[in-house]
Amino acid sequence: MGKPSRLPAGYVERAVAEMLATRDRMASTAQIPFGHCPGCGAGLADPASFVQEFWVADEARFLVWCRACGFTGTVVKVERFETHETAE
Ligand SMILES: [Zn+2]
Repeated sequence: MGKPSRLPAGYVERAVAEMLATRDRMASTAQIPFGHCPGCGAGLADPASFVQEFWVADEARFLVWCRACGFTGTVVKVERFETHETAE
């Protein structure tokens, strides 16, 4: 068994209720550095889609679920990207 939660009883339930009661639930997307699905290009402003930032060490990552195409994946912001052009 894991350790018992150190959060006060009902903390998570209250936090979720407050989030759902927020009038503009997408206001926090201002920090998300992309606005479209990497799978199909649909806008992710639709409140039915899902973007959640999380961190692994000091690297920000975004869990994305797109309502339009069903894409589910993790988007990682990179500082620099190098690639080679493929031969056709
Ligand atoms: Zn999509």
